[in-house]
Amino acid sequence: MSLVASTETAPAHTRAGVDPGRDLLDEIYVAGRWVTGAGETIESIDPASGRRFATLRAATPDDVDDAVTTGLAAAHASGWTAMLPHERAAVLHRIGNAVEFHADRIAALQTLDTGKTLSETKALASSAANTFRYMAAALETADDTVTTPRGPWLTMSTHQPMGVVGAITPWNSPIASDAQKLAPALAAGNAVISKPPVWAPWVTLLLARLCEEAGLPNGLLSVLPGPGRTVGEALVRHPQVAKISFTGGTTTGRHLAHVAADKLMPITLELGGKSPTIVFDDADFERALQGVLFGIFSSSGQSCIAGSRIFVQRSIFNAFTDELVRRAERLRLGPGTDPRTDVAPMITRAHRDSVAAMVEAAVANGAHIRCGGKIPTDPDLVDGSYYAPTILTGVTNADTISREEIFGPVGVVIPFDDETNVIAQANDTVYGLACGIWTRDYRRALRVGDAVDAGTVWVNTYKQFSISTPFTGLRDSGLGTEKGRDAIRQYSDQKSIYLDRSDAPMRWGTPR
Ligand code: NAD
Repeated sequence: MSLVASTETAPAHTRAGVDPGRDLLDEIYVAGRWVTGAGETIESIDPASGRRFATLRAATPDDVDDAVTTGLAAAHASGWTAMLPHERAAVLHRIGNAVEFHADRIAALQTLDTGKTLSETKALASSAANTFRYMAAALETADDTVTTPRGPWLTMSTHQPMGVVGAITPWNSPIASDAQKLAPALAAGNAVISKPPVWAPWVTLLLARLCEEAGLPNGLLSVLPGPGRTVGEALVRHPQVAKISFTGGTTTGRHLAHVAADKLMPITLELGGKSPTIVFDDADFERALQGVLFGIFSSSGQSCIAGSRIFVQRSIFNAFTDELVRRAERLRLGPGTDPRTDVAPMITRAHRDSVAAMVEAAVANGAHIRCGGKIPTDPDLVDGSYYAPTILTGVTNADTISREEIFGPVGVVIPFDDETNVIAQANDTVYGLACGIWTRDYRRALRVGDAVDAGTVWVNTYKQFSISTPFTGLRDSGLGTEKGRDAIRQYSDQKSIYLDRSDAPMRWGTPR
C-alpha cells in the first residue's frame, strides 16, 4: 500500500471528510486483489482549487485479461452463479446498507474528485444505496415464467447469468452510474468489471471496498481505472466479455456499438442529449422558472439530461427570459463543499475551456449573452474550473449552439408560437433523451409528451428520477434501457425449456 504524498497540497476545505490514507490509496482492484497499477499515472485535480490531490497508476489491458479470467472462475467457484436469488439478494442488501452507512464518506470523496456540491453527491450516494436494495428486491421477486403450451409440453422461460460483463461509466455522476450497472449485473449472477473514467476514479474504488466488506465473493468484481483507448478498448474487445453497459458520449458509444457488432455482443448505450424544456404561456410561472433554472444549471450543466434548449411561448418570452436571467445572475458560484454554493466548478479546466469556446463561437455567430458567458475572475474562484451560468438568446434551433451537447452551464432560450411549432423544433435534433413540459393543461402535456421523441418526459418537474422507472435514450441518445425491475434481465441470457409430457414417441419419418 502506498500513501499518496501530494494530498497535503490540497486546501483544507476540499479535504473535509476525505481520509487520504484510507480512500486515496494508489491501488486498483483486479478480481479481488488490491494492486498498484502498471499503467499510466492519473493525476487527480480538485476542480475547486486546481490542485492535485492524488495520483493513481492506471490499469492495463493485461489487468483486463486477468480480471476477466479470474472473475469468470470466481463466479463459478464461489457459487455466485448458482446461488439462489434470495441469497444473492442478501449480499446486495448488505452492499446497499454499507453504501448508506458510508454516504458522507462517499459524498466527500466524490465532491473532491468531481467538484459537485456535497448536497448533490450525498443524494447520489443515497440513490446508489437504494439502487442496490431495489435490485435485491427485484431479484427476489423476478419470476421465471411457465408459458402457454402449444403442444404436449410444459414450457418455461428462464434466465441465467451471462458470465463477465463490463460497466463503462463517465465522470459526471460516478456512484449513481456505478450502482445502476453493478447492482443489476451482480444480481443476475455475473462477474463485473467496472472501468471508471480517468477524471473521476476514486468513488468506484471505494465502492469496491464496500462490496468487499459486505461479503461479495472475492474475485467477482474488478475496478480498472484507465483511459478508454487502452483499458476500455481491451474490455470491450475481450472475447470472454459477454456484455457491455456503457454510459458516455455519443461518439464513443457509436464506436463501441461497432466493436460489439463484430463480436455479436449485446451492448447497452446511455449517451448524450440536447433536451428541450418547453414553457407554455399557461404554465405556473414560478414553478416553471425554478424548474428550468434547476434543469440547466444544477450539476453545473454537466448532465446528460440537462434542459439545455429552453423553448418559451412568444407571449411570455420576454417576461420569462428576463426573470430567468435575473435568477441565473444571482446563482452563487463556489466550491462543492460550501453549503451556500448553487453552481460548483466544472470537472476540469480543459472541459470548462471547451464550453467557453462553444459560447464564443455562438456569439461570433450572432448569439446574445444575457448573463454569464465568462470565466469568473474573482480571486476565490480563479484557480478552480468555474464557468458563470450562461443564458443565450438571439439563436435559432438550427444554430450549432442549439444542436451540439455543451455539457456545461449554458442554456439557449428560443421562442415558439404554438404546440405544432414547438413539437417540430423539439424534435429537430439528433438526440432523444429527455423533455420538460410546463403547462397547467394536462391534456396538452400528454399530447406534447407523446409527440416529442424522448426517453423521459417530465411534466411540471424536471430531472427527477426513481430507480423503479426505466430510463431509455432514443435516437443518438442511446440503445437499450437501464433501471426498472427488468434491469436484471438486461444482464441475463434467456433460455426456453420444453418438457415433453406425452406418453407416445414423436411421430416422424417412415413408420417401421
Ligand atoms: P466519454 O464517452 O468520453 O467517456 C465515457 C467512458 O468511456 C469513460 O470511462 C471513458 O474512459 C470510456 N471510453 C472512452 N473511449 C473508449 C473506448 N474507445 N473504448 C472503451 N471505453 C472508452 O464521455 P464522458 O466525457 O466521460 O462523459 C460525458 C458524456 O456522457 C456526455 O455526452 C453525457 O451526455 C454522457 N452521459 C450520458 C448519460 C445517460 O444516461 N444517457 C449519463 C451521464 C453522462
